[in-house]
Amino acid sequence: MTRNEVSMAVIGGGIGGLAAGLSLLRAGVDVHVYEQSRGLSEVGAGIQVSPNASRVLHRLGLAEALAMSGVKPVAWHQRRWDDGRTLLRTPLGEDIEAAFGFPHYQIHRADLLDALAGAFPAERFHAGHRLTRLAEHEDHVEAEFESGTHIGVDALVGADGIHSTVRCSRFGPDIPHYTGCVAYRGLVPADRLAHLDLEVTAQIWMGPGKHFVHYFVQNRRLLNFIAVIEQDSWTRESWTDQGEVADALAAFAGWHPQIRGILEGVDKTFLWALFDRKPLARWSVGRVTLLGDACHAMLPFMAQGAAQAIEDGATLAVCLSKVDARDVPDALRRYETLRQPRASRIQALSAKNKTRFHLPDGPDQEERDAELARGTTDWSSSAWLYGHDAGVIEPASWCGAGE
Ligand SMILES: Cc1cc2nc3c(=O)[nH]c(=O)nc-3n(C[C@H](O)[C@H](O)[C@H](O)COP(=O)(O)OP(=O)(O)OC[C@H]3O[C@@H](n4cnc5c(N)ncnc54)[C@H](O)[C@@H]3O)c2cc1C
Repeated sequence: MTRNEVSMAVIGGGIGGLAAGLSLLRAGVDVHVYEQSRGLSEVGAGIQVSPNASRVLHRLGLAEALAMSGVKPVAWHQRRWDDGRTLLRTPLGEDIEAAFGFPHYQIHRADLLDALAGAFPAERFHAGHRLTRLAEHEDHVEAEFESGTHIGVDALVGADGIHSTVRCSRFGPDIPHYTGCVAYRGLVPADRLAHLDLEVTAQIWMGPGKHFVHYFVQNRRLLNFIAVIEQDSWTRESWTDQGEVADALAAFAGWHPQIRGILEGVDKTFLWALFDRKPLARWSVGRVTLLGDACHAMLPFMAQGAAQAIEDGATLAVCLSKVDARDVPDALRRYETLRQPRASRIQALSAKNKTRFHLPDGPDQEERDAELARGTTDWSSSAWLYGHDAGVIEPASWCGAGE
């Protein structure tokens, strides 16, 4: 692989940071990833990887790893909360693969992170490195870590998540807005749920003030669920607070026996509050930019947060592949121009789904259900989302230096 002259630090070794590291490496960038945790750390939860993300991951050489632990659901099944009536069933499996050329996966987050880390050179991954200070100069960026390490690079990207230190240092602290929703998350051993005879679909149950999503991960050994509930107040934003199973069961009293059966099978749940952020007007300042949750944290109601982070890395790599160190600021602005509108659109659509999923029974819910019943299984309306290739920039939008 030939190297260009650009050296880059990725701050944060989560899904977004590691995927970006791999994309940048393949583009010839001299990239290193700095992660605050001592090792790889992921919460015990599942994630959906849609074709717009699996396209990038396959190109990064991860097709086999995804196929080994991921589950390909046969359909998305949207259902009514109390009687389980089908509102819309959209075939996935071979259908979505035929439509977009790449599969839709359900996977354990740790399996995805392991696959990414396994493909990234160990000598370029620096665990136990928490960024503490950032200084930008005309021709380079300096970064300091709690470990005492000090580096100088041509470019730096903050892939350091929702509480991003990089974002804060460039754009100041942000004020997240509590959306009025909390989510219980959990993983249930599939053998405990055999009596429910669950199909291999991603199921979304909609009801008044709540919704419930479940799907298999890890070769169907575990069932992942997310139970979202409207709740008046919350103070912390964390992914790791424990929730009481009894509280979740009480919240879903009166719901279909399948939902209650899943909750009864879990040992431990995590409780997580949903905060909203307005799209950032800017992601890049000079030689520093952002990706993933650091710049577009979104509600998980389209299952696109990590997918968008993966796309960011692919586009960033294309923008940096044709420049030398002098042109980094222009390349980062181009990356932002290409990515910001799409990520903001998906952020806004994800937020809108909260209202749609949680309608109380009545005229609006009936209208939603009627619309779902008319729903098409033709993929043309979602081609903009799943058919997008973040690793290809149309010539019209490419006016980069060095061509
Ligand atoms: C319940 C739930 C369900 C979801 N479902 C889906 C789904 O199905 N599909 C999907 O695409 N997305 C989903 N998402 C969203 C997705 O999980 C996130 O968008 C994604 O993890 C963001 O990745 P990231 O790399 O940007 O940030 P993170 O995963 O938060 O990684 C940030 C990394 O930066 C490190 N870090 C932080 N600060 C520093 C520092 N100062 N120095 C060094 N390192 C630092 C952290 O330790 C961490 O490893 C879901 C989210 C939730 C909560």
